[in-house]
Amino acid sequence: MNPIKKLDASLSNKIAAGEVVERPASVVKELVENAVDAGSTKIRIAVAEGGLQSISVLDNGAGIRLDELEAAFSRHATSKIQSDRDLFRIRTLGFRGEALPSIASVSRLTLMTSPDGAEGGKIVLHGGEIQSRTQSPPKQGTEVIVEDLFYNTPARLKYLKTIHTELGHISDSINRFAMAHPEIAFELTHDERTLLKTSGSSKLLQVLQQIYGLQAARGMRRFEAETDDFTIEGYAGSPVDARASRSYLTFVFNGRYVRSIPLAKAVQAGYDQLLPIGKYPICCVHVTLHPLLMDVNVHPSKLEIRLSKEKELQHLLEETIRGVWNKEAVIPSMQEPF
Ligand code: ADP
Ligand code: MG
Repeated sequence: MNPIKKLDASLSNKIAAGEVVERPASVVKELVENAVDAGSTKIRIAVAEGGLQSISVLDNGAGIRLDELEAAFSRHATSKIQSDRDLFRIRTLGFRGEALPSIASVSRLTLMTSPDGAEGGKIVLHGGEIQSRTQSPPKQGTEVIVEDLFYNTPARLKYLKTIHTELGHISDSINRFAMAHPEIAFELTHDERTLLKTSGSSKLLQVLQQIYGLQAARGMRRFEAETDDFTIEGYAGSPVDARASRSYLTFVFNGRYVRSIPLAKAVQAGYDQLLPIGKYPICCVHVTLHPLLMDVNVHPSKLEIRLSKEKELQHLLEETIRGVWNKEAVIPSMQEPF
C-alpha cells in the first residue's frame, strides 16, 4: 500500500466535477444560478454545438471583486454562506462553492467581470490552471465562456449523447429558470438561433405561454393558497392538454426548481378522475416557505430537497388543485388537522 496523501487541488476538483458537471446542461445550470444569485435582471445564454463547443453566460449582476477573482476558483470558496446557521437558512441557489473550480478543471474557461460597472478583470483557466489574468473593459456584470468541455476527461466526453439531446437538456434547464424567475429576462440561443426569449415582466403566465404555447396557456387556471408554513401559487393546465410525462410539472421552492415525486402525485390526485391514466397535467407551482423547513444540501446537483411538513404541503396542493377544477373556493380550510 502507498502512504495516505491529500490530493492536490487540481485532482480533487476533477473528482468533484464528476458529480457537479455531468453534461453541458449542468454547466449552464451552475452558471445561470450564479447569475441569478448576483441579482441580475437580464441573463443571456449562448451555446454552440449543444454546449460541447462553447457555452457563454452573460449577466448584468453585481460582478466579482477583482481581488476575489482567483478565490472564486478555489474549492469550497463561496460568498453565500459563512456558518452552520447559514447552511440551514439558504436563500441563494448556490452555497457549495464548487461550481467554478469544477467547471474550470474540465474545460477552457474565460471569465470577465466588472463589479458595479467599474474597471473589469479577465481570467483564463485551462483544465483548472490559470493561464492569464488581465484587465477588461468596464461593463456591468459577468460573462463566463466555457469551451471544449471535457477535453481532458475523455471518458466523460464519450458518454455524452448527440448535440440534439444535449441541447434538449440545456433548453429544459433554461425553461425552468424562466418559470422560476419570471422577473428576469432570459435569452437562450443555439448556434445563433433564438430558442427562448422572455421579457422579465414578472408575468408567469406569459412565460408559460412562451414555453408551452398559446393553446396550453389558454387552458390554464391560476391558483393560490396558504397555510402558516407555506404559500403556493401558480397555474394548473387543463386536463385536455395533459402529457405523458411528469416533466411538465414544475415545482419552484423559494426561486429554486426542484424535482418532487410526492408533490407530482399530489397534483395528479387533485385532478381526480379528470386525467387519463398515465397522463400528467402541465402545471407550475411556486412554493414560498421559511428556508428552515427545507434542506437543499441533499445532492451536489441541488435538484432534490428534503422538506419538513411535506404531508401538509401535499395536502394543501392536492386540495387547492381540486378546488380549481371543481370550480369551488380556491382557499382551503385553515382548520384542517395536518
Ligand atoms: P457558489 O455559487 O456555491 O458560491 P461557485 O463556484 O458557483 O460557488 O461560485 C463561487 C463564487 O464566485 C460565488 O460565491 C460568487 O461570489 C462568485 N460568482 C460566481 N459567478 C458569479 C457571477 N455571475 N456574478 C457574481 N459573482 C459570481
Ligand atoms: Mg454557484
